[in-house]
Amino acid sequence: EAKARGRDNFCMFVPDMKDAVEERLRLESDLHLAVQQGQFVLHYQPIVDVVTGQVSAVEALVRWSHPERGEMSPSEFIPIAEQTGLIVPLGDWILRQACLDAMRWPSDVSLSVNISTVQLRGANLLDTIMATLEETGLPPTRLEIEITENVLLEQSAGNISVLRQLKELGIAVVLDDFGTGYASLGYLTVFPFDKLKIDRTFIQELATRSDCMAVVGSAARLGRSLGMSVVAEGVEAIEHVEWLRSAGVVQVQGFCFSPPVPAAELRFGDMFETFESHAEPERTPKAG
Ligand code: C2E
Ligand code: MG
Ligand code: MG
Ligand code: MG
Repeated sequence: EAKARGRDNFCMFVPDMKDAVEERLRLESDLHLAVQQGQFVLHYQPIVDVVTGQVSAVEALVRWSHPERGEMSPSEFIPIAEQTGLIVPLGDWILRQACLDAMRWPSDVSLSVNISTVQLRGANLLDTIMATLEETGLPPTRLEIEITENVLLEQSAGNISVLRQLKELGIAVVLDDFGTGYASLGYLTVFPFDKLKIDRTFIQELATRSDCMAVVGSAARLGRSLGMSVVAEGVEAIEHVEWLRSAGVVQVQGFCFSPPVPAAELRFGDMFETFESHAEPERTPKAG
């Protein structure tokens, strides 16, 4: 009887599995076509200096306008692009488009581009980056490369050498989503990161969880003692900015300043201003 039930369960499971496989294959072939046809757009999110409130950098975040599904999130398609190798041509397009857009921004604003560890392992990332900077005219000192570890980054001589060469060119190397994924503290002494970006899961729980405050405070001290600057992503509450600054975080990024927006909607300048003017009516005593 147990055997029969087991078989039933198995039979019931098959159609779902078949659906999942078909869905995945469909997305893969859609993604091939999307890369060929250029169905992607870049959105941009400001990164704000915690002392001055000025936009000091902007992160490029890719979106896929799927012909039937509409706008798709990178967390849905970047892993497929990585597994199929499509991340290489897609990543080349992202870098070039972002550099072209950044050439129209104030010259003291840096561009931050996410690079997959699959691209890092590829043979010609360095050549591609140098050629793209030359073609677009963006100075290497305005470019930052964010590396997150959704795919394990081996501590190989090749990887370390690419990161070092990027640094030598004047490009800043950022460890994204710090505190999650595979990155261990050992990485910080092996890879030459310029910046640590603390993952938003720690930032979002700041108000309610004292262990998150401890993690963020320790990460900021650790980064500083290793000569790396520390950034906080996913800042949704303006109230957290003061605390982050006192903890030693130098840049903040999150919905409280701006969500990622199309290039044409990007605004520069003082991001603290909005909050100061919002606060103004409260200074006037209420009548009655
Ligand atoms: P990430 O690089 O850590 O980017 C931050 C993500 O957090 C973005 O999601 C952004 O929209 C979101 N975010 C920013 N501020 C807030 C906030 O205050 N609250 C909340 N809840 N979320 C916030 P997005 O755009 O969906 O990107 C997800 C991930 O996909 C990125 O994480 C990155 O790992 C990857 N990705 C995005 N664009 C690219 C790209 O051009 N190339 C590569 N290789 N990966 C990319
Ligand atoms: Mg990032
Ligand atoms: Mg991040
Ligand atoms: Mg993140």
